[in-house]
Amino acid sequence: MRRLYEAPAYDTARWPTSHWRASLPAPPERPPLRGFFRCEVAVIGAGYAGLNAALALAGRHGTDVAVLEAGQPGWGASGRNGGFCCLGGARLSHRQIVSRVGAGGARDFRDFQHRAIEHVAELLAEHDIDARQGPVGEVVLAHSRRAYAGLLAEAAELKSLYGETVEILPGAALAERGLLGQGFCGALLEPVGFPIQPLAYAEGLARAAETAGARIFGASPVIALAAEGGSWRLSTPEGTLLARRVLVATNGYSSEDLPAWIGGRTLPAQSAVLVTRKLTAAEKRAQGFTTPLMSYDTRELLHYFRHLPDGRFMFGMRGGSRTTAEAERATALRVRDEFARLFPAWAGVEATSEWSGFVCLTGSRAPFVGQVPGAPGLFAAFGWHGNGVAPASLGGQLAAGLIAGLPTTVPALLRRPPRRFPMPALRRPMLRALYVLRGMADGPLPPAPPR
Ligand SMILES: Cc1cc2nc3c(=O)[nH]c(=O)nc-3n(C[C@H](O)[C@H](O)[C@H](O)COP(=O)(O)OP(=O)(O)OC[C@H]3O[C@@H](n4cnc5c(N)ncnc54)[C@H](O)[C@@H]3O)c2cc1C
Repeated sequence: MRRLYEAPAYDTARWPTSHWRASLPAPPERPPLRGFFRCEVAVIGAGYAGLNAALALAGRHGTDVAVLEAGQPGWGASGRNGGFCCLGGARLSHRQIVSRVGAGGARDFRDFQHRAIEHVAELLAEHDIDARQGPVGEVVLAHSRRAYAGLLAEAAELKSLYGETVEILPGAALAERGLLGQGFCGALLEPVGFPIQPLAYAEGLARAAETAGARIFGASPVIALAAEGGSWRLSTPEGTLLARRVLVATNGYSSEDLPAWIGGRTLPAQSAVLVTRKLTAAEKRAQGFTTPLMSYDTRELLHYFRHLPDGRFMFGMRGGSRTTAEAERATALRVRDEFARLFPAWAGVEATSEWSGFVCLTGSRAPFVGQVPGAPGLFAAFGWHGNGVAPASLGGQLAAGLIAGLPTTVPALLRRPPRRFPMPALRRPMLRALYVLRGMADGPLPPAPPR
């Protein structure tokens, strides 16, 4: 398998050192695929997309489905994200979406995003998954006056395009709403979305899929995929699976050649997170950031953060462009530095866990759910950009409908196969250059607090 980054990022023998993993009882290890099996549908990847597809296929459609996961369920981004179950999925402005798929198509995509959040809420309730971590709502904090003007424009656009109403808070109102961080000039409040324990959700999905009849094999990286007499042969180090249909749900952990079609169409980008020790009520007040709502700022290279139910604080941002152990240590230092700049009252508060993982960008800046062109029986669902908790979940369920051959409406934006990145060999240098440009557009960060 050809991968874009250095090997440590794909070492499925080790779980990421995440707070989510540390704060849950260790889930059961699913055994590897050993020997020869047949099934109707094989799913590659046990993240939200793959597990939602497996759950829907086994539970709703009564299909014989097997999931092959290189690590264990939730080992990828689904077990290590920030837990914002929120709107998103594409890296396009509303206007760009309208120009690509028309006003109706943009409304369909917006509707998909809302339904995706409801879908996750329904799954948690239906399968008794204890993952919910806080109230409904999400805050976007303007990092500059210009960005605040942008939020006002965004509010007007949401109203005119989708009939949605959001709340706008000027800078002077941030203190009373517990939204104080260094340099924030105002905010937009979306009355949708809620925070979750991401790994608890992934593990709950895996259990639900197994209860519905899906078989999940851990430590089973698919190392070869080949068409064979109207079926697909999937090879793992210890076994073989013959399936009539296959869903590739490997997202940011995709290899460049499995299937060959995916090569050059994804750009994994690292996101990095820290979680602090528990903050006291006095420490929270000292910073003035006390909201229980999920929050992020308006920077192109955005920061996302929220209080956790046990008093800890989670802070995330873009990661590095290398994934060696040394690069990861440098990334962790950068995350701590930017955390201290935005929340100077907590500059001395130690982090108890730090980790990173891949989100998946595509050449079309939109996700894809559909059949791989020219490959009957082969489907893919990937490319959720920075927001996959909700969209990958509903996207996986839609993929299941397509695979089962049922009438399934996938929003037009998600139906177009992503084009290959121009000069795919240069994706990582291009990403580095993009970070520099975006950082310049964002302007300087607040100064580092004195030590
Ligand atoms: C640090 C971080 C923070 C994030 N924060 C948020 C957030 O707050 N809100 C939000 O909405 N989104 C967030 N995201 C994005 C979100 O987590 C992802 O979009 C989502 O989890 C994608 O789910 P998935 O099932 O498509 O992929 P993944 O969960 O990445 O699953 C893909 C799986 O495929 C497996 N795999 C790969 N190749 C093979 C193979 N050959 N054989 C077998 N298995 C294979 C991998 O091991 C992996 O487990 C974040 C991501 C990261 C990394």
